[in-house]
Amino acid sequence: MSNRLIDDTTKREAGQREKRAVISTDHNDIMDHSVYYTYTELHGNSSQVGDTPKPAVVIEAGIHAREWISPAVNLWVIDALIGGYRNGNTTITAMLDQLDWYIIPVTNPDGYQYSHEKDCLWRKNRRYIRRSCRGVNLNRNFDVAFNTTEVSNFCWSDIYLGDKPFSDPESCNVKALVGILQHRLMTYVAAHSFSQSWIGGLMASAMSVRHGTEYRTGQALKVLGDAASGISVDWALKIVPGIFAVGIEPRPPAKKLKPAAANRYTGRGYSGFLLTPQEIVPTAEEYFDGLVAMANELQ
Ligand SMILES: [Zn+2]
Repeated sequence: MSNRLIDDTTKREAGQREKRAVISTDHNDIMDHSVYYTYTELHGNSSQVGDTPKPAVVIEAGIHAREWISPAVNLWVIDALIGGYRNGNTTITAMLDQLDWYIIPVTNPDGYQYSHEKDCLWRKNRRYIRRSCRGVNLNRNFDVAFNTTEVSNFCWSDIYLGDKPFSDPESCNVKALVGILQHRLMTYVAAHSFSQSWIGGLMASAMSVRHGTEYRTGQALKVLGDAASGISVDWALKIVPGIFAVGIEPRPPAKKLKPAAANRYTGRGYSGFLLTPQEIVPTAEEYFDGLVAMANELQ
C-alpha cells in the first residue's frame, strides 16, 4: 500500500502555517482578535482517476457555533480516514483513492470559541457590528435568495444575515474553497445539529443501521419544518448545479425535546445542542456510515 496519503498529510502539516489563512475580523474594540481558518485535504493514491481530475467532496462543519457535535464528528472522521487508509481498510482506501475530501472542521472559529467560554448556545460568529451588537449568522450570509426567508436585519438576532452576501470572512472562505474546486466538486455536505436527519435517503438508512438510531430524510422544509435563505448548501447548488448538496443534523432527535420554552429565533430552551460526551463516538460512527454510503453512491 502506498504511503502517499501520509506523506502528503505530513507535508501539508509542515506547510500549514503558510497555507493557513489568517483573517482579521472587523472589530473596533479591545476584544479584537483574529480568526483562523483551515481545511484538511485528504486524498489517496493519485490526484486523478485516469485522465480525469478526481471528484471533490467538501464538508463544512461548525458554521453555527453552538453545534459542537458537528466539529467533533468531523474530526473523528478525519482521524478515521487517515487511520483506515494507513491500515489498508478497503472501504476507506476506495473512498480516498476515488474522491478528494476537503473538510472544514470549524467553519466559525471565533463563535465556536465563544460558545465554549461564555455562552454555550451562541450561534453566530463574533464580528463586531456596532456597540454591544456582535455576530452574523453565517448560514444566512451566502449569495442565494439573500434576505428573503427566516432572517433578521436586526444585528442582535440569532438569524442576523449581515448587510450583504459574503460580508463576513468565514462565508468568504467557504466561497473561496468552492471556487477552487468548482470544476470537480461533486458533493457539498453541511454538517449541523440537531434533529437526527440527513437530507438524502440512502445516507439516512445507512446511519440508522449501526446503533438503531432513527434518522429522518427528505427536503429540509419537510424534515426540519424550516426553510431559510442565504444558506451554504443552496448556494453550492446554485454555483455548481447538479451536485449532491446535503445537510446533516445528527443526534438527538428533535421530537423528544421540549421546544416550548425556546424563543424561536434564539433557540434558547433547546437542550439538543448539549449532548453528553458518551454520545460523541456513536454519533460519529453513524455519521461516518452515512459518508461511506454517500461515497459508494458517488464512485
Ligand atoms: Zn446549524
